[in-house]
Amino acid sequence: MLNRQGRKTRPEAGSEDNNNMTGETHSGHKGLQMDEPLLFEIGSPAKTGVDLPDAPTVDDKLGGLARDEEIGLYGLSEPEAVRHFVRLSQKNYAIDSGFYPLGSCTMKHNPRLNEKMARLAGFGDIHPLQPLSSVPGALKLMEELSDWLLKLTGMASIALSPKAGAHGELCGMMAIKAALDAAGSPRDVVLVPESAHGTNPATAALLGFKVRSVPADKDGTVRVDAVRAAMKAEGGGDVAAIMLTNPNTCGLFEREIKEIADLIHGSGGYFYCDGANFNAIVGRVRPGDLGIDAMHLNLHKTFSTPHGGGGPGSGPVVLSDRLAAFAPVPFLRRDGDTLTLVEETDGTQSFGRLTAFHGQMGMYVRALTYILSHGIDGLNAASGDAVLNANYIRAKLKDVLNQPFGDQASMHEVLFDESSLSGTGVTTLDLAKALIDEGFHPMTIYFPLVVKGAMLIEPTESESIETIDQFIDVMRSLISEAHEGQEDKFHAAPIHTPRRRLDETGAARKPILRWNAEN
Ligand SMILES: *Cc1c(COP(=O)(O)O)cnc(C)c1O
Repeated sequence: MLNRQGRKTRPEAGSEDNNNMTGETHSGHKGLQMDEPLLFEIGSPAKTGVDLPDAPTVDDKLGGLARDEEIGLYGLSEPEAVRHFVRLSQKNYAIDSGFYPLGSCTMKHNPRLNEKMARLAGFGDIHPLQPLSSVPGALKLMEELSDWLLKLTGMASIALSPKAGAHGELCGMMAIKAALDAAGSPRDVVLVPESAHGTNPATAALLGFKVRSVPADKDGTVRVDAVRAAMKAEGGGDVAAIMLTNPNTCGLFEREIKEIADLIHGSGGYFYCDGANFNAIVGRVRPGDLGIDAMHLNLHKTFSTPHGGGGPGSGPVVLSDRLAAFAPVPFLRRDGDTLTLVEETDGTQSFGRLTAFHGQMGMYVRALTYILSHGIDGLNAASGDAVLNANYIRAKLKDVLNQPFGDQASMHEVLFDESSLSGTGVTTLDLAKALIDEGFHPMTIYFPLVVKGAMLIEPTESESIETIDQFIDVMRSLISEAHEGQEDKFHAAPIHTPRRRLDETGAARKPILRWNAEN
């Protein structure tokens, strides 16, 4: 690779300046990236970074059950503790350090303005147990955020409190269950397309519904005929709801969504939409116009609040008229100039309480900041650019990677499969591992499950063309190396990481979650 002055940025594999490059060092550290052992390996119970006075002797009120030997927690001195955790933190790959094209996750930039607003003392220092009369600004902010989210989705009502997407699904499905119970309905089947995120069937099953799968069509979408067939299977009249994702996890817009909604409604069922992919359509399509009854919004995806290891999620759920009455407490109520949080279910049809307090206040501040700083035109531009970027990658890679559902435009993420690599000995997993060596977080792999060797790439709108072009170049170079027979390189990857290829199956099947000296 050459820099802008045309000089090589690193030794080329196999070249003379690369002869001594084994990748291994005497210390285990690599180029100021420190190899960091576990706290248990470097610390000891005898070490501590704090100097506390001896605890006063008190009467043992534990009936002789008080521990009398040391608890044996491993300690470090203060400078060692600082280094230990700083080094660990430097091993985190994050959206702030590089491209993170993890499909279905919308890993986009978190504007710093959001953080600044969330740290304002009036938001950052308030406590959930403070009297409501002392936090009118926080309530007003929740109302304004609700108002935006309702306008953007075209829905009747909102439950702000769910803590993430999956929690939002639980909330929406609990509202549906409460509505069915209120009507004395025995319906107990939930239809879930094969391509759905695993949280969809898990949510339905957790609430005691039977999950019935709906196959995808050969173009990757769910057709109304397939839904009709699934409804007729084994009895038919028992379908409580469908859980559909739009755009779906293949990155495609469900074109028959209105017909599917009408079909489900016609039979008396409800339409849950997994709205995690709202980033593709925000400002352009209002889910309420599509006949949706409940949908979660991942503030940590579409509305740019920290994500993954970086911060708590927040998954507000918007509800249609039919479900509004069943929303969980607490919810906001406005009487003239006064805003209150309704905490009690008495006199309401609410299904109850979902979380201890009212949800993730810090995320509300960040999401509203994002919305207000973009405005409707900015949100519209963001979804447009998200879709454009995904299609740019699609256009630039489609001659070397196969699109499982034919050469059709994608929404905000593009799906490839590994069929173009067949015969090379290189799999989707190998390609993903080789990307790590190149400094890119891999795309989502092996999801959705309907596609063999799936690679789901979501660049988001916040990446520059330079970054996306570099990613495309790297993908193309790796794919040609695979075809040139460099299978071994791929099987060895990653080689530049602190740890090499891990036994992921072993880690999942036989996790060692507790350290002990014998391990
Ligand atoms: C992210 C995601 C979820 C779950 O959201 P969490 O906030 O991770 O719980 C559900 N469905 C889809 C399609 C998603 O992408």
